[in-house]
Amino acid sequence: MKRLARSWLGASWFLNGFGGTNGSWLCKNTKCACRKARRKVSIALKLSVSIVRAVRRNQLLSLARRLLSLPTAPFHEERVAQFIREFAIARGLRVRTDKFGNLIVGYRRGRGHRPVAFVAHMDHPGFEAVEDAAGGFVMTRFLGSVPRQYFRTGGRVRMFGADGEQRATIWSVPDVDWKKEKLVRLRLKGAVRRGDFGMWDLAPVKTNHRVIWSRACDDLAGCVVLLAMLDELAQSRASASAYAVFTRAEEAGFHGAMGLMRSRLIPQSAIVISVESSKELPHAPMGQGPIIRVGDRATTFDSRVTMFLEEMAARVARADRRFTFQRRLMDGGTCESTVFCHSGYRAGAACLAMGNYHNLGPGEHIREEYVDVGDMQKAVQFFIEVARRSNDYGRAPRLLKKRLDALFERGRRQLLQTAAVIRVPAPAVGAFEELE
Ligand SMILES: [Zn+2]
Repeated sequence: MKRLARSWLGASWFLNGFGGTNGSWLCKNTKCACRKARRKVSIALKLSVSIVRAVRRNQLLSLARRLLSLPTAPFHEERVAQFIREFAIARGLRVRTDKFGNLIVGYRRGRGHRPVAFVAHMDHPGFEAVEDAAGGFVMTRFLGSVPRQYFRTGGRVRMFGADGEQRATIWSVPDVDWKKEKLVRLRLKGAVRRGDFGMWDLAPVKTNHRVIWSRACDDLAGCVVLLAMLDELAQSRASASAYAVFTRAEEAGFHGAMGLMRSRLIPQSAIVISVESSKELPHAPMGQGPIIRVGDRATTFDSRVTMFLEEMAARVARADRRFTFQRRLMDGGTCESTVFCHSGYRAGAACLAMGNYHNLGPGEHIREEYVDVGDMQKAVQFFIEVARRSNDYGRAPRLLKKRLDALFERGRRQLLQTAAVIRVPAPAVGAFEELE
């Protein structure tokens, strides 16, 4: 069972190949014993696949528990980065960092694949001490987009420093322009050094196996999906060329992503896909599969990449009836794909719908964010297909052009014949000069 569980790809191939619908390996006699045998095999296969699914879900949850429990904030991603580095090295994957501290994990097997770079960010909105304090009060700045009314006196914060962690509470919010700088004065007992960081004092991670709640799903859930994808690729030894890129300080203003563009470590030929946890919207609910994101609040993304992603997701859906996906404009926030598109990359995006975006819970209370575990599993399945079939990029637009051309040819004659009554005589040269 362990061997079977090791490769989802193997299992799905096994199921599709063996349990195929035509049953050509059977004789035609309906009373023959081989029919009974087939039923038994089919039941056994269904059982194995559901066990494989359960094993995979447990593996994903175990990974999520470990990664999501690590503290992080913009510019303070070192613990998450260390976990990712160790995870990749243990699987024999190549890890690089650029000079801005972004992590790039490479998976390459086989030749001639167009590279795909999946990008998730390692930070989450959080606090940063702007002064040393021996105890009592400390001034912090909040990095990330959270409205001022959520910073109530008594709000609970957890500070992380070289000497460990400690609890703090919000004391006051100085009367300065919130849009320019989010200054928050905290009250605490112990000492704090300038540069120590803090998070909302919420559960690091908890789950009921269907939903994961965490103080920082955005975007550690995206990081978990990418690590699970790398794990799967490494174990199945799939032929593909993929990068999993982990960026820094996204919440403070895309600093890591912009640094990544300047360090030029991602080949220009790569398809770049931003992987986010995005605010759940009425038309993009959680639990209905990963979302192919056609754009964000700022821009729309490369339509060829979006078409490619849609083709790949439809392909997975054909092979696995339980797989679902969505294709939506997620304009609840801006993501790194906007940066990549504007740096000349062919970039698209995919995301998980997430509740309590940026910890903004009902009634203006700070709460854990949450994501659907099934959506995460499906995202892993989807990204593996994208990585393995990256050479299909460009096929969907070519097919679309063919279809449009064929459609035009079908009506061309009638269009020409009926045009005579509409056509006006060609204007004499210079007739439009006056208009210009
Ligand atoms: Zn995010």
